[in-house]
Amino acid sequence: PADIYGAERRNSRGLDLSVPDEAARLHHAARALSPLRAGPFVEGVARGGGEATAVLSPSEADVAIGQVVEASPADIDAAFAAARAAQPAWDASGGFRRAEVLRAMADALEGDMERLIAICAREAGKTLADGVAEVREAADFCRYYAHLAQTKFAGAETLKGPVGETNTLELRGRGVFVCISPWNFPLAIFTGQIAAALAAGNAVVAKPAEQTPLIATQAVALFHEAGLDPRLLALAPGRGETVGAALTAHPQCDGVAFTGGTDTARAINQTLAGRDGPIIPFIAETGGLNGMFVDTTALKEQVVDDVILSAFGSAGQRCSALRILFLPRDTADGVIETIKGAMDALVIGDPADPATDVGPVIDEEAREALRAHVARLEVEARVLHRLDAPAQGTFFGPVLAEIPSARFLEREVFGPILHVVRYDPARLDEVAGELAGQGYGLTLGVHSRIDAFARQVRELVPAGNVYVNRSIIGAVVGVQPFGGEGLSGTGPKAGGPNSLSRYAIERAVSVNI
Ligand code: GLU
Repeated sequence: PADIYGAERRNSRGLDLSVPDEAARLHHAARALSPLRAGPFVEGVARGGGEATAVLSPSEADVAIGQVVEASPADIDAAFAAARAAQPAWDASGGFRRAEVLRAMADALEGDMERLIAICAREAGKTLADGVAEVREAADFCRYYAHLAQTKFAGAETLKGPVGETNTLELRGRGVFVCISPWNFPLAIFTGQIAAALAAGNAVVAKPAEQTPLIATQAVALFHEAGLDPRLLALAPGRGETVGAALTAHPQCDGVAFTGGTDTARAINQTLAGRDGPIIPFIAETGGLNGMFVDTTALKEQVVDDVILSAFGSAGQRCSALRILFLPRDTADGVIETIKGAMDALVIGDPADPATDVGPVIDEEAREALRAHVARLEVEARVLHRLDAPAQGTFFGPVLAEIPSARFLEREVFGPILHVVRYDPARLDEVAGELAGQGYGLTLGVHSRIDAFARQVRELVPAGNVYVNRSIIGAVVGVQPFGGEGLSGTGPKAGGPNSLSRYAIERAVSVNI
């Protein structure tokens, strides 16, 4: 079938925050947000009389911005039953129909942009610029997967075979997918996973991160308003240990898409492996220990700009964020001094204030982990620079520290802490090998004017997303398909031409006439 929309697919334009009125409007919307409610949502109806707990804002001390009710086992059973009943008709409706609904969702997201950005700021501590990016990416996922639905799922593909035999390959949905998403992209990844599963012909039971149920509730309501049969998408908020565990162990779960920590991915994989019945597909996008290699030909100011954005943008709370900067020992001092100066210019504060560069970290537990890591850096390595942070809420001032080697970090450190390793260019293989040896493979940066250097680094360090002479965050749907390998995830990448492959089953049919 012709791809009648694909050629015209455009990524979302978002809002221009350099227009003072736009920024002021968003700021006001965030401040004026009235309390919201989240809870189990099945067949379009809020369920559950369970106890409600407060949803707190990371940028404000003890301010409840809403309430959430955790999904009970009965809510979860009801969600699967409704999804199971509705899925076959959705699958049979074909890629064009599903694309229509996903495009309507993209429009709905853009139409509600201001409110969604306000919720992202208050609930997840996202800056206004990050909020704009969040809504854009959510809309982009919907339109991109709509495009895949109608190109790959609208009819069977004919394959070449012997004369007299017709061979076709068709893709179908698997059934009911469980989508478990993180708080750091509480709208974009939440929506992206669901859009992918729906595009491929599945129904979805979605569990948002424990910290961000409010924005997820709004997204589910928008899907339903956009014309999705409410039975096809249920929301099951709650903790990983309770709701997440119940969803992945549920006999009606036909597949799991997960974005979050590597340890949780392992636990889910074990649950799935221990289940009776069919072997369950698992799509995991997890953490990274992302490095950037700079050589002596790199342009210092450009390096520093890209480093600041990659390490401290979104308060370092991206899987893609820069964790270790490798500087050649001859020019390291100059780069480090310039980074310190650029750090001093960062504005840390209220995420809803248009001037803010760095908002809070997500919660006290996250901040404690960062503090413990800095305590270790102080004793076993060297802290080079550290910024103060506001006292209210869970802010954490960005830190620059020098470590002897990538081996110093056993795991991902999720927040605004940048580590520097000075290296001897004659020992690049060894130094890069130490990073590779940690087993992650998400993003990788190179800053150099020499193509051979960039190619050498790429050969030495595994990474799903490589960026040369630019920042290493902010993958764009359809432009930089995102996702890693090894400890960083299973693939297929999000926002790429192969994204839907594991959400689907394939059937080859050979007919002789
Ligand atoms: N796709 C995001 C980026 O490129 C990161 C996603 C994540 O943190 O999970 O920055």
